[in-house]
Order: sequence, then C-alpha cells, then structure tokens
Amino acid sequence: MHCPFCSAIDTKVIDSRLAAEGSQVRRRRQCTECGERFTTFEVMEVVMPRIIKNNGRREPYDYNKLRRSMALPLQKRPISIDEIDAIVHRIEQRLRQTGEREVSSKMLGEIVMSELKAIDDVAYVRFASVYRDFQDIEAFANELANIRPKSDSVEKTKNGE
Ligand SMILES: [Zn+2]
Repeated sequence: MHCPFCSAIDTKVIDSRLAAEGSQVRRRRQCTECGERFTTFEVMEVVMPRIIKNNGRREPYDYNKLRRSMALPLQKRPISIDEIDAIVHRIEQRLRQTGEREVSSKMLGEIVMSELKAIDDVAYVRFASVYRDFQDIEAFANELANIRPKSDSVEKTKNGE
C-alpha cells in the first residue's frame, strides 16, 4: 500500500488488531521512507447475490428481511433461535454457492421453503401459503395433501389460524 503522505511504496505494519467484533482487522502502518504513520482497515468481503424481484427490480440481499419473513411461519413452533440462525446461515450459504451475482426472489423463496420443510412441516406450509400467494384454496389444499402423511399437526394449523 502506498504511503498517503509521500506515495512511497514500502510501508510496514507496526500494529495489527481485530476490530468490529472480529470482522475487521485494523492495521497501523509506518512509511519506511518518510516515517509517517497511518491506519488501514481490512474487511472480509462477503458477497451475497442481489435479489431480482418479481417485478424485475433488483435489491440487495437483506438479512433482516429474510429473518422477518420466517418469523411468522415459525411463530409458536418448537424451533429455537439458534436453529433459526442456523437455517438463515444455510440459506445464505446456498445463495453464495449458486455463484450467481443475482438470483430471483422466487429462487430465494424455494431455498427458504426447502430449509423450512426439512425442520418443520407446519412452518413450511405457513411460509409456502404466503410465499406462493395461493390463488385459490385448492392450490393450498394440494400443498397440504403433499405433506399430510408426515404430520397430523398441519390440520390443526389450518383450522386454528
Ligand atoms: Zn511516506
């Protein structure tokens, strides 16, 4: 890194410490030419693909939005906060693993659904019913029929909401 004072190329690190709860490295450097000191920050680059909405608009991936979209489906379900964190982490991993710079919100929804389905049928149906924006009750009933053999609790949810 060039010295900001004299543009010399050679600078040395004289101190290095973690900052921002470990997600940054703060380095104190000194120019070997003019002796001036300056600070640099290193930040891990975590690239999440952008989300292409149904209407074609792009928006940055939003962790809080994803958490919120799962709050209602998971309400009163026997799923701990740690498990939800783990699910969100897996969803983010899968998004990155696509290697795409942009993914459709439909694809994100499918990933969320498959993760929910793996841990809780009721949460899955709740999410699916909102997410897929069922046009009619028949479509919703078909979705229920697909998972009914695995769980009786789906029936209760349907009537209890
Ligand atoms: Zn310098």
